[in-house]
Amino acid sequence: MRGGSVFARLLGLGRAVVEGVTIEEDEVVVRARLRRRDVSRCGVCGRRAPGYDRGAGRRRWRALDLGATRAFVEAEAPRVSCREHGVVVARVPWARHGSWFTREFEDQAGWLASYCSKSAVCELMRISWLTVGRIIERVVADEQAKRGDRLAGLRRIGIDELSYRKGQRYITAVVCHDSGRLVWAADGRDKKTVARFFDELGKQRCSELELVSSDLGEWITRVVGERCPNATLCLDPFHIVSLASDALDEVRREVWNEARRSGDSAGARWLKGARWALWKRPERLSERQQAKLATIARVNRQLYRAYLLKEQLRIVFQEPDTAAAIALLEAWLAWARRCRIKSFVKLAKTISEHYAGIVATLTHRLSNARTEAVNTTLRLITRRAYGFHSADALIALAMLTVGGLRPALPGRPS
Ligand SMILES: [Zn+2]
Repeated sequence: MRGGSVFARLLGLGRAVVEGVTIEEDEVVVRARLRRRDVSRCGVCGRRAPGYDRGAGRRRWRALDLGATRAFVEAEAPRVSCREHGVVVARVPWARHGSWFTREFEDQAGWLASYCSKSAVCELMRISWLTVGRIIERVVADEQAKRGDRLAGLRRIGIDELSYRKGQRYITAVVCHDSGRLVWAADGRDKKTVARFFDELGKQRCSELELVSSDLGEWITRVVGERCPNATLCLDPFHIVSLASDALDEVRREVWNEARRSGDSAGARWLKGARWALWKRPERLSERQQAKLATIARVNRQLYRAYLLKEQLRIVFQEPDTAAAIALLEAWLAWARRCRIKSFVKLAKTISEHYAGIVATLTHRLSNARTEAVNTTLRLITRRAYGFHSADALIALAMLTVGGLRPALPGRPS
């Protein structure tokens, strides 16, 4: 067909021959045929394989829109019999195996999913969020294969859990402290999952790990102790500080319940609204929140002390000088132990029990903003992933966004 190569180029069809173009109900349909050297290849491995049958006959793949018009590629989709993969649909150069979308369409959807909101991706690409989930799994698998071993050269890592489905399910995530990237993630939160990561890493590379950070969970710390002979275990500042936030919230809730019980509904409502003022870093408070905090300081000494305890613990991890940071931690412990606020006395006990791991954190200066940013992003991703069909799709979204596996946009260098 004249002008066929233009359409082949526009739709990312590679060497395929365009036989015709039609417009059907506001859709452009481009009929394509493979060149001889591209036909009869296994859809999985790409090796030559004898033909098996015609499969489902002709089928369509959604391509990137042409202008504002939806576009499809239509071609034969015969089956071949691969020595290794059995009877499978033959490969087409423009699409990933098992997909109803072209590679360029999927790359663009994946790129967008790592930057934009759910609704922006779905509206622009005109696909459902569930479909986005399936697409990014393929994109990530592809990028992973292209970029090779992602576990090479790891020295300092953090192991963390992420909850999804409203806290009913968990994935385990491994972040590299040096690159600030997510390097591994899997469904589950138990010793077995952590052990699986170390299995993949292999004995040699486990012994090269210098530092592993995590929360207080035994399911991580115990396996690290067993498998990483040369690593120092550090406790994540992120988690320690969030324990303090929880302790503070417990105090706020108690005060709130008291106000409610005593019939002070205005006071109760006011306290409920004070939550953000107590949670946020002081330097980020709005004027109104600052005023709220000042009122708390005046009318509720206990809640205000709990707030100061939380803030003081956060500052321990911001102190750049190790000796000074340890001194601050000591001072905090002394204060918290005799503060007579139940939740903070308890926290002081927990922190004493894990003292060595926290001092290791302060010594190795693990409190870096980059890892904290990854943690925050990962938590946002688990919320955005709501509506995906599987943990794998959630993991794929995380890998695209903070795992360095974002595909290049079609037609741009990666
Ligand atoms: Zn094969």
